[in-house]
Amino acid sequence: MYDPDTANIARIYDYYLGGAFNLPADRARATRIQSTLPSMEMLARFNRGFLRRSVAFMLDRGITQFLDLGSGLPTAGNTHEVAQARSPEARVVYVDHDPVAVHHGERILDGNPNAAMVGADARRPAELLADPRVLDLIDLDRPLGLVMTGVMVFVGPHEDPVGMVKGYRDRVAPGSVVALSHLTDERAEGEAKAQIHAMIEAYKGVVEQLYVRDRAEVEALFEGMELVEPGVALMPEWRARPDADIPTGSPAHHLGYGAVGVVG
Ligand code: SAM
Repeated sequence: MYDPDTANIARIYDYYLGGAFNLPADRARATRIQSTLPSMEMLARFNRGFLRRSVAFMLDRGITQFLDLGSGLPTAGNTHEVAQARSPEARVVYVDHDPVAVHHGERILDGNPNAAMVGADARRPAELLADPRVLDLIDLDRPLGLVMTGVMVFVGPHEDPVGMVKGYRDRVAPGSVVALSHLTDERAEGEAKAQIHAMIEAYKGVVEQLYVRDRAEVEALFEGMELVEPGVALMPEWRARPDADIPTGSPAHHLGYGAVGVVG
């Protein structure tokens, strides 16, 4: 299970975010992946920035409980850091199906009574939302913030991604909010398009497959929810601060969509 010599998806991601929870094997693979897409770190940071702004949006709406699906390691400005900085009583359950992410996550969250790391498959909403480890911190009768950043990229078209999100939507209280980010290749041109597909190839062996989706496919994941302004947007642009200095010249700028929907 825990093998420090095998590169791991959550630790590679931590490396891109400048975190401290990565090992030589992770850094070696991360560097190889980055040689295919030099703006990989920027892409990870855009994704994390979207996560932080969407969690802040949820807090603004009075949401104080969060379920973060496919969380990776709870470091580098992740959900509980944003939520508990504003609202110390905020409750956060992180879910990841990777035993290594869970192993590190449990240690990172040790001593935080309002945050937990749960090892489970996010593709099974009914099971997860009945799991006592989730229900220990989350009250499904109250609005919930569902964070699904960088996770639907692992769910192929053959696995009914729309049905998966619907499985959560149908079980959470009205007023719950879903934040989702996704890799896309439809806005990339020329070299950037080649780079994103080379990056997906380079990830093979660490993960089975990464999937890209276009804007319409991302929008379809929000079936039955109301998308908040500006709808599906490039990740760094979704509700960016007016004074944000977005590096629009980077290929990473065009490689991810973010959107937030409210459950009616
Ligand atoms: N959500 C974080 C973010 O946006 O910064 C981290 C994203 S990281 C790219 C994706 C994480 O999703 C990995 O740690 C991976 O193990 C996890 N993951 C992939 N498929 C999953 C599934 N079916 N259930 C739970 N976790 C999953």
